[in-house]
Amino acid sequence: MAAAPLYCVCRQPYDVSRFMIECDICKDWFHGSCVQVEEHQAVDIDVYHCPNCDDVLGPSLMKKRNNWHRHDYTEPNDGTKPVQAGTSVFVKELQNRAFASGEDILLRMRGEQVTQRYLERHGFHYPIAVTEMEGLGLKLPPTTFSVKDVEEYVGGDKVIDVIDVARQADSKMKLSEFIKYYTKPHRPKVLNLISLEFSDTKMSKLVEVPDVAQRMSWVENYWPDDSFFPKPFVQKYCLMGVKDSYTDFHIDFGGTSVWYHVLWGEKIFYLIKPTLDNLALYEAWSSSPNQSEVFFGDKVDKCYKCVVPQGTTLLIPTGWIHAVLTSQDCMAFGGNFLHNLNIGMQLRCYEMERRLKTPDLFKFPYFEAICWYVAKNLLETLKELREDGCPPPNYLVDGVKALIGALKTWLKREPSSEVPDNIRPNHLIKELTKEIPKYDLPICREHPTSPSTEEAIQGMLSMAGLLCSKTENVASSQEPWWPSPSQHLQLEKRDCEQHRLQGNKSLIDSQGNSSSEAWDNQGLPSPDIEYQYCEPSMSPPLHPSKRHAPNPHP
Ligand SMILES: [Zn+2]
Ligand SMILES: [Zn+2]
Repeated sequence: MAAAPLYCVCRQPYDVSRFMIECDICKDWFHGSCVQVEEHQAVDIDVYHCPNCDDVLGPSLMKKRNNWHRHDYTEPNDGTKPVQAGTSVFVKELQNRAFASGEDILLRMRGEQVTQRYLERHGFHYPIAVTEMEGLGLKLPPTTFSVKDVEEYVGGDKVIDVIDVARQADSKMKLSEFIKYYTKPHRPKVLNLISLEFSDTKMSKLVEVPDVAQRMSWVENYWPDDSFFPKPFVQKYCLMGVKDSYTDFHIDFGGTSVWYHVLWGEKIFYLIKPTLDNLALYEAWSSSPNQSEVFFGDKVDKCYKCVVPQGTTLLIPTGWIHAVLTSQDCMAFGGNFLHNLNIGMQLRCYEMERRLKTPDLFKFPYFEAICWYVAKNLLETLKELREDGCPPPNYLVDGVKALIGALKTWLKREPSSEVPDNIRPNHLIKELTKEIPKYDLPICREHPTSPSTEEAIQGMLSMAGLLCSKTENVASSQEPWWPSPSQHLQLEKRDCEQHRLQGNKSLIDSQGNSSSEAWDNQGLPSPDIEYQYCEPSMSPPLHPSKRHAPNPHP
């Protein structure tokens, strides 16, 4: 057997996980870390001289900057090419653009008000801003917590993905190198760190995610301990961005909802409602070749600007299209979660990612597997509700219908390798389908009077992400899929009778008419869509903005 070729000053074989650069003179390859060239620096080098060759020929030759508005700053600045997202010209222009006010859509709530029960009653369709976080269950380090503290808790050797903002490209570096960059007074470029998931580090104990995100999370509630697939970790991200960092418009992976808390500094969110029109426009924009030259906020009717200052927590629901500007050096914490309230929209976002051929690195790990686990659990929930004579809330009926549609579609695709071993897929789909029409004639029995029994039932439902007692659903199937923020706040309690009637109405609607949430009507890929199965990444997903990751190798 021939020996593997050796490279670099260290004479080691090729290692896919390490960044390498080729010497333009001797043509040998070198580890960036062995020759002190970071991946993001390599793109600035025109002719690279390795340590051996620069003894003779002098230092490497650097590229010449010709512009401040293109991802490739060597392109001639002859006025023929438009501004690209992330460049310094773009960021200046962004700050001067006019937007609709975030106040038109933001629900401002106190921490203690943001509960699972509240969202189940009123839906989770609009972003929520919390300035008084007490009662949210969110635990954070003090505001004196610095980037050096992060290095201490996470470990400087951790290899992280940073975004070179002006190029909108990923590159890998050690956390210690990033912290060095962050704390130097002069920063030659804008680097942004948004995908540092730290659940498996010592820093994890310093942060507790908001109660509501924990309680509603599919992973927390439904992921079995004995799952063959590794449990997805997407609940704890630390974001460290320098001023003028920019992440272009995107939908969070798998249609996850997300919470962010700005520990210090400031971020500005540009938010777009996930209406069917906007989602279609987004998909077209995402797949267009000149995406970086078109500001997506201009393509839609309304884009809302929302400043998130230090101490504020923002919760963004399923499907909201958003861009983020870091207006001051900033440390923020955040996390993603899937939940029962917007199942149809989550699935629609997932299918869109597939159509856009989003790399696995930017997707929710084992999304389909978790949907099977959820289906199994919701079947039990629906059975229990039926046995108690309690009609399920509309969001659940709509969600389960969408889920059935998705599972059937996935089974037809080959191979269905994310069906967990202990699940009989066809049987499960059949059982779930059977549970849906049974609500034709719901019997809304009086609720048990014994407090202990009621508590027990509430506990059980709450675990399942449901509360049947006096739960009302705001958006009936024929309305747009959300109420307006004002309706949202004006809701009144309805009695059991009204609830029952509404339950009936929803069912008639969904049988007779097209529901705006229905899987079958929206976002269903054509049956002949090409399906390529790739082994999902084991690491937490990177933030799903579109970035090319140049990493040439021998
Ligand atoms: Zn080396
Ligand atoms: Zn050389």
